[in-house]
Amino acid sequence: MKYKKTPPLSLSSFKKYKMSFKPSILMSNRRNKKNQKILTLLEDNYPKFKGGLTNYSSPFQLLVAAILSAQSTDKQVNSVTEDLFSRFPTPQDFASAPLEDIEKAIAKVGLYKNKAKFIKELSIKLIEECDSVIPTTLKELIKLPGIGRKTANVLLNDWFEIHEGIAVDTHVTRISYRLGWTKNKNPIKIEQDLMQIIPTEKWGRITHLLISHGRAICKAQKPQCLNCFLSEHCPKFGVSEE
Ligand code: SF4
Repeated sequence: MKYKKTPPLSLSSFKKYKMSFKPSILMSNRRNKKNQKILTLLEDNYPKFKGGLTNYSSPFQLLVAAILSAQSTDKQVNSVTEDLFSRFPTPQDFASAPLEDIEKAIAKVGLYKNKAKFIKELSIKLIEECDSVIPTTLKELIKLPGIGRKTANVLLNDWFEIHEGIAVDTHVTRISYRLGWTKNKNPIKIEQDLMQIIPTEKWGRITHLLISHGRAICKAQKPQCLNCFLSEHCPKFGVSEE
């Protein structure tokens, strides 16, 4: 059987192929190096911050603190959680408590009536369906009352060190966009974009690094670009808001 011989690539075709291929590799290498540099700078400048929520000592308590933190500051949440968890340390304590008692105990945080309801429902569901054990997958966690993707990712990354995704809040959204890491505004799409850029073992850390940077320098209004250690790598240097 005779095979048709493939004609050799002419010098001009090879050059064309080389030119179309090489720049994209170079560009992605350059982009990777730039992103790595940004990550290193963030880690060097915010070596300690591991999240603003304190006072929790179990994954269940971290979930409750995260529910309380929706549309409230970490400071407000921390001001109630010490007493709250000494009175109600476990799902059983919340499940058996009258709703009004939980409401009273968290009344200093915003939307406390809804949050009290979620915490009680969460506790009952954990007891009835999970044997009081906190699930360790994103899929199971987001089925629990009051638990969204962001909270589930915080719990998995920070407590269990299971890296299924990246928690995206307003700081992460804004700074990822400014740094050119995403063009999206939808948190799920932003999360997917970041997962392509950030090494898996840093999926928990990146949320805290961007929150730190958002609070200290890259604020929503009037970011301090002139004082920013990322200025030479940032395509939005000089932005006023967005
Ligand atoms: S240069 Fe400005 S926009 Fe860019 S990360 Fe820094 S503060 Fe934010």
